[in-house]
Amino acid sequence: MAAQNWDIIIIGGGVVGSAIAYFLAAEPAFDGQVLVLERDTSYQHAATGLSAGGVRHQFSTAENIHMSLFATEFLRRSGELLAVDDIRPEVGFREYGYLMLASAAGKSILERNHQLQRQLGADVELLDRKALATRFPGLATADLAAGCHGASGEGFLDPYGLLQAFKRKARALGVSYIEDEVTAVERVGARVQAVTAARTGRHACAGAVNAAGAGAARVAALAGIDDLPVRSRKRCIFLFEANGAGADWPLTVDPSGVYFRPEGNQFLCGVAPETDPDCEDFEVDHALFEDVIWPTLAQRLPAFEALRPGAAWAGHYAYNTLDQNAILGLHPELDNFYFANGFSGHGLQQAPAVGRYISELIAFGAARTLDLSAFGYERVLANAPIRELNVV
Ligand SMILES: Cc1cc2nc3c(=O)[nH]c(=O)nc-3n(C[C@H](O)[C@H](O)[C@H](O)COP(=O)(O)OP(=O)(O)OC[C@H]3O[C@@H](n4cnc5c(N)ncnc54)[C@H](O)[C@@H]3O)c2cc1C
Repeated sequence: MAAQNWDIIIIGGGVVGSAIAYFLAAEPAFDGQVLVLERDTSYQHAATGLSAGGVRHQFSTAENIHMSLFATEFLRRSGELLAVDDIRPEVGFREYGYLMLASAAGKSILERNHQLQRQLGADVELLDRKALATRFPGLATADLAAGCHGASGEGFLDPYGLLQAFKRKARALGVSYIEDEVTAVERVGARVQAVTAARTGRHACAGAVNAAGAGAARVAALAGIDDLPVRSRKRCIFLFEANGAGADWPLTVDPSGVYFRPEGNQFLCGVAPETDPDCEDFEVDHALFEDVIWPTLAQRLPAFEALRPGAAWAGHYAYNTLDQNAILGLHPELDNFYFANGFSGHGLQQAPAVGRYISELIAFGAARTLDLSAFGYERVLANAPIRELNVV
């Protein structure tokens, strides 16, 4: 039997690879054959299933805001859009909002961000200290200058549920998934001609997509691209039980960076570590909870002083060392190898917009809906970062 010639091979079948697969398969103008090569379909180490599941409109870069606004639109309709045989997936999208808290030092950034977010259509409300205390009783506000709350559209979802929903729908639309690890990319000049996987060997293709998450730099290097600035960086999540904050409390981000949100009848929390080396192990840094998170939570919501720690896990950000934003589209040296990498902590919510964008690049050669070319590889080569203005 002759080996199949694939039109597109997607390397990595996490939420990003699977969203791209879905949008390609759902695009009437594209009738190619799509293969997803995923090395571990249990996804136990993939960032997707280990993430906090947050969807926020509270960014400072217009493209990031647009991407998350589209995520909300998509998630609200995901039951209908991703249904297979009339079975509607449940992705558990809870629109409890984000609550970004600012100290005096962060107030002007919060206000500026809020203005742009409103301008672009986000339903976010600015609250002064008094309004914060009234709206969120129990919150210690003495050291806060302001807060910004997503009244609708923001919140969190079940990340594994969304991945599975994209994947099931993509397969129903004809996409093939093979569990195998890509070990080589065959490139002739500016074109990728095939990829080789450890168990199933060579797969010829007319184009390929790097959606390998924290493994993206390795996959890029297989195609001779050695400068993808994406590294694996550890982030830990801790569960705890506590009384005092409601089950519909928003995903709250303290000026220190500590965040928490409800998770069923528990809470989930985390923070970026102060020293942040490249890292591939999955050991939980329990000291982070004891020394940094718990004291901050107890100070911010005194009801959390008596919390009971629960389970914890570690996952890896695909951390873009240039500017912590996505790297999307073709590399200038390559005609048919697309990148969807470096999401650094917001790739789950960007998966729908990125899936749509990459599928448009493949089907039409350009964006038809949301132009994300600002996040192209060119800025990496030009060393021109696009940095988010974070609230402190
Ligand atoms: C602790 C934590 C909290 C987070 N919180 C949020 C949040 O609140 N909101 C948000 O939007 N994002 C969040 N993120 C980020 C988000 O999870 C990721 O950006 C997103 O899941 C990236 O999806 P992906 O498909 O690119 O990567 P992954 O889910 O990691 O998938 C990549 C896949 O590629 C496969 N792969 C790699 N190399 C190869 C190869 N050579 N051959 C075949 N397959 C390969 C891997 O097995 C993996 O399954 C968080 C991440 C972490 C770790």
